[in-house]
Amino acid sequence: MIDPGIKTAYEVGGRRYTLLSDLHTHTTYSHGTGSIRENVEAARARGIMKIGIADHGPGHLFYGIKRRMYARMKADIEEVRAEYPDMEILLGVEANIEGGKGVIDVVPRDSEYFDFVGAGYHYGTLGGGTPFGLFKEAGNLISTASGRTAKAIIRSNTNSVVKAIEKNDILFLTHPGDKASVDLLEVAAACARRGTLVEINMKHRSLSADDIATMAIADIGFIVGSDAHSPDRIGHFTGAVDLICESGIDPERVVNIKVE
Ligand SMILES: [Zn+2]
Ligand SMILES: [Zn+2]
Repeated sequence: MIDPGIKTAYEVGGRRYTLLSDLHTHTTYSHGTGSIRENVEAARARGIMKIGIADHGPGHLFYGIKRRMYARMKADIEEVRAEYPDMEILLGVEANIEGGKGVIDVVPRDSEYFDFVGAGYHYGTLGGGTPFGLFKEAGNLISTASGRTAKAIIRSNTNSVVKAIEKNDILFLTHPGDKASVDLLEVAAACARRGTLVEINMKHRSLSADDIATMAIADIGFIVGSDAHSPDRIGHFTGAVDLICESGIDPERVVNIKVE
């Protein structure tokens, strides 16, 4: 069912903003509630002709994709592509950034299945299998950390994210700052060097308008993602336009929004 509150075109200040694609959607292959087909059909029903499936990477202990399911996902994608040739349907993944060495849980042998890799930090991985990673995971769970401890955690988080961006081909960084505070400008500078887009995530809403303005000091592009975990949330970007306008950035820098 489609949430009538979701609009994929939105007018602010005499300009019309239209969402062109939604690459960040989850299915039952991780912990979404819809199938690949249901996500595609929900996008189509809203006039979004480009959709990505980005389920959680296999390193997540609780809801990562099982590697043995890759082939079936690919087959599901081929089936809907054949049925809707006027759409662009991409199979991606939301990889987990693990540990401090730039490791993500999508390795080269996985890549043949995926059209793109998004990546972000999540609780519930083994932290790249290193004691350091597990320590960091624990640190991020203790959100009351303050002073030097907090600074050290931010330093280590920033280092992990920057290294992951540098060492992997990541199309977009999902919900930066969520669950793991980072130095946003340093992360944005890494994204600028590598051409990685920064996501304005509509589920976690980790970036404020000020955060977006800070990151925009670096020469980066942004992408809006619904992070829909059910088909009814696909294309959800109400609020993104307000954030973008409030941040003062040129809205043309958001690659999946058309501004007229
Ligand atoms: Zn995520
Ligand atoms: Zn997600």
